Amino acid sequence: MILKTLIVGELETNCYILGDEKTREGIIIDPGGEFELIEKTLKELNLEIKYIVLTHGHSDHIGALAELKKRTGAQILIHQEDAEMLCEPEKNLSVFSFKLICAPEADRVLKDKEKIKISKIELEVFHTPGHTKGSISLLTDKIIFSGDLIFYGSVGRTDIPGGSYQKLLRSIQDNILNKEDDTIIYPGHGPATTVGEERKNNPFLNL
Ligand SMILES: [Zn+2]
Ligand SMILES: [Zn+2]
Repeated sequence: MILKTLIVGELETNCYILGDEKTREGIIIDPGGEFELIEKTLKELNLEIKYIVLTHGHSDHIGALAELKKRTGAQILIHQEDAEMLCEPEKNLSVFSFKLICAPEADRVLKDKEKIKISKIELEVFHTPGHTKGSISLLTDKIIFSGDLIFYGSVGRTDIPGGSYQKLLRSIQDNILNKEDDTIIYPGHGPATTVGEERKNNPFLNL
């Protein structure tokens, strides 16, 4: 599997590009901004994007969504409980930035345990609320894309509308810490980590 990380936008969001080496079909997770960079990378990788998956609806994860949708025609997938954030600047928090974001609507809303498939790549959706109501994590083999649920040595903010610290901890307990130690976590911001590393050293999980 092709896996490329781009760091985009002011909040340095991780945008992940996944692709199948043979069929050149791809998936983008969280196109947070810098459309030109994303487009250039897609060309370099020679990928045709089928799905744009959003771990949640905040503006730093959807900034390049409208342009990317226009350019690729790919389907937009987001959990049903965050779907309304796409075109509501108050809810996606772009109201606090210099550019209001109204992205296109979802083509399909996701539910817990649903699967997203292209070629030989299969992502399993886990509903992991806490940072937002409709936050999801995506699992493939021994890799988990966690969005803003958990970071290297930290966890997502819960002091914004839709946030719940209790739910966040429960989501981490039930969907991250139940995985094997060598499972790699690719978070929404910052470096990749592993389940074992966070189990041992994340101060928020070891109170
Ligand atoms: Zn967020
Ligand atoms: Zn974020």
